[in-house]
Amino acid sequence: MTQPSPDNAPSGGSPPGKPLFGKIALIGIGLIGGSIALAARRAGLAGSIVAATRRAETAETANQLKLVDHCGTDLAAACEDADLVIVCTPVGSCGEATQIIAPSLKPGCIVSDVGSVKQAVIGAMAPHLPAHVHFVPAHPVAGTENSGPTAGFAELFDGRWCILTPLPGVDAAAADRLEAFWRGLGSEVERLDPADHDRILAITSHLPHLIAYTIVGTADDLAGHLNSEVLRFAAGGFRDFTRIAASDPTMWRDVFLNNREAVLEVLARFQEDLFYLQRAIRWGEGDKLFDLFSRTREIRRALIHLHQA
Ligand code: NAP
Repeated sequence: MTQPSPDNAPSGGSPPGKPLFGKIALIGIGLIGGSIALAARRAGLAGSIVAATRRAETAETANQLKLVDHCGTDLAAACEDADLVIVCTPVGSCGEATQIIAPSLKPGCIVSDVGSVKQAVIGAMAPHLPAHVHFVPAHPVAGTENSGPTAGFAELFDGRWCILTPLPGVDAAAADRLEAFWRGLGSEVERLDPADHDRILAITSHLPHLIAYTIVGTADDLAGHLNSEVLRFAAGGFRDFTRIAASDPTMWRDVFLNNREAVLEVLARFQEDLFYLQRAIRWGEGDKLFDLFSRTREIRRALIHLHQA
């Protein structure tokens, strides 16, 4: 996967023009659903945008914030006559939501999702979908530690990757249209095999979150005065981990349970490498530490160069 170069990095989505879709329905209106709604409106990508969510309070907040034209709690009703339906619920709820909306999907409708795991979500959604719709799974690699409808903002996807994982045999025009939609939201788009997606995200996103949850949990478990001193003197490194460890518990529980094999594989590799460092520290092998820290410093510099830092 090549990174966006400074020349082709998008800057705020395409200007408003002819809408790509007549009606868009978002199922789930939290950080990602809300941000899609705001970015789609900014770029004039839809004639109308509606949403449906599980709880009435969430729908009410979305309506107060005017994220969409209307948000309710009837998932199936929201999808009637929609040209594009995007399931924006936690990964573990995508199958259940798809089962509910399936009977009201109109022929030719494009159905997508934003799940952080692809193989399990495809396995949960695809069996419910009628043959007359086009299923094109997607994952915007953009987010924050905040969740819910108040967390959404129009710039979330600007210059960030969105990965499409279309299945073999999918209608090419439908995949191209969804790709144009994500470019309109401000993203760069790449297509990947779902298994490759899950392996790549296991190391770049899922493992870092697991490490952050562990470090903050370990610090919290420290007994007595050490615990309060850790929080009092929280400096750069630990503070950065607390931000990641504040990410939504439901979302991340579902990610780990649904990308189990890829996460366990990279976790095993990580544990081996950690033991290597543990040994180097014990035996005073400074050259080993220095070599690794120099290599990783170069990786950070490369990320900055690619505008992904
Ligand atoms: P979020 O802010 O917690 O929003 C989730 C939304 O889904 C809420 O509107 C919630 O509604 C709704 N929902 C939950 N269970 C539902 C169900 N069974 N039926 C209908 N609606 C339901 O989550 P998010 O951060 O937007 O994440 C949504 C998806 O995007 C996840 O699959 C996640 O993996 C993916 N993603 C997240 C990030 C990130 O950084 N956060 C980045 C990329 C992709 P109620 O409040 O009504 O329950």
